[in-house]
Amino acid sequence: MSEAIDDPVAFCYRHPEVETGLRCNRCGKPICVKCAVRTPVGFRCPDCVRQQQDKFYTGGGLDYVIAVAVALPLSLIVAAIFTFFVARIGFLSWFISFIAAPAVGGLIAETVRRAVGRRRSRYLSAVVAACLVVAVAPFLLLTLLSGNLFGLVVPGILLFFGVGTIVARLR
Ligand SMILES: [Zn+2]
Ligand SMILES: [Zn+2]
Repeated sequence: MSEAIDDPVAFCYRHPEVETGLRCNRCGKPICVKCAVRTPVGFRCPDCVRQQQDKFYTGGGLDYVIAVAVALPLSLIVAAIFTFFVARIGFLSWFISFIAAPAVGGLIAETVRRAVGRRRSRYLSAVVAACLVVAVAPFLLLTLLSGNLFGLVVPGILLFFGVGTIVARLR
């Protein structure tokens, strides 16, 4: 845009030692390749991207409280079910948990999304994922202390795929 042939060499506004020909197409500040964020409308500087995101995120502090209030008990119930029931089915338990863990993650994510009125918050996925981690951790510890190493697999699968699904769904 502003790149005329006689453009003086510019330096990234965040890395004053890095020369660059790139500019943010919103505010025009020079940005280096590392800082430039590719968006559907062109390269933007991190500040402009953040400003756009702030408009995008309509949720607030209370939504995090609601999210924890919903996600934590739900996660505890699920963790207990996985640890004490699914893990004891035997042969099929790993297979079942591979299928059930993403479904459970999706269920938790959707329940939270409804509870917060579908508002978006920047750290919502992290908060909900943390609830699942906090909920599963004592069950993992309990299983570990009982010396049942194979018993770690089922809650482990829940943790891994549950968190993955939550992060993907609540972005
Ligand atoms: Zn900018
Ligand atoms: Zn830079």
